[in-house]
Amino acid sequence: MTRDLAAPSARSALSILMYHRVGVFPRPAAHRALFCDVGRFARQMHFLRWAGIDVVSLDQALVHVAAGQFDRPRVVLTFDDGYQDFADHAWPILKSMGYPASVFLVSRQVGGPARWLGSDLPAANLMDRATLRRLDAEGVDFGSHTQNHRRLSTLSDTQMRGEILNSKHELEDMLGHDIRHFCYPYGDYTESARACVQTAGYHSGLTCIRGAANLATNVHELPRKAISHGDNLFGFAWKILFKHARKGRGAIVKAEAAAE
Ligand SMILES: [Zn+2]
Repeated sequence: MTRDLAAPSARSALSILMYHRVGVFPRPAAHRALFCDVGRFARQMHFLRWAGIDVVSLDQALVHVAAGQFDRPRVVLTFDDGYQDFADHAWPILKSMGYPASVFLVSRQVGGPARWLGSDLPAANLMDRATLRRLDAEGVDFGSHTQNHRRLSTLSDTQMRGEILNSKHELEDMLGHDIRHFCYPYGDYTESARACVQTAGYHSGLTCIRGAANLATNVHELPRKAISHGDNLFGFAWKILFKHARKGRGAIVKAEAAAE
């Protein structure tokens, strides 16, 4: 049975959800938005279907944003960093349900450990080229998350442009097609970084600003909603249907981005 929770009265119309790792983890003491239990993830995906909420690709979401079309709740699924557990745990669930997903890769660290993670976090492997090519052929949308996962605001202009532009070229060489979307490491960016993302030809830029995407004033700084290890199904539904539920465009709430 499908419930129509997606009635036009629900106002938080476009939610870009932010995940990192999906798997089986001990309860994290910190950085909880980095971890999602795979059982919980499966229940979240089934909830979306049961509630009649459309899961759309980032490309399709941009069409809705451009048209100002926020008549019903829609969800985009994004995964930062390109962890191996996306291939092992998240993608099999998404594939079986026919849900699109965007995964943001760190071009110079493909196939290695995620070297930017601090020593207080468990080591994590990133997908290798062969896995990326297989998932690409199966329909996963891969975007850029820079070359080295550095904080863009701390870099010189030349370094910053390299991270944004060269990662696009490196991933395009790896996958053999255009890379359309960009995600700022740690949600950290400046006006010039945003302008660089735009002139590099990316169709969107994803931040760690918490909010509904229909509140965005610029597609190169789209807000997202982080799904945390602590979110039960009620919390998940609340984030999608009610949190940051405001009509039209307006101020958005900035939140601290941790290890994202
Ligand atoms: Zn990241």
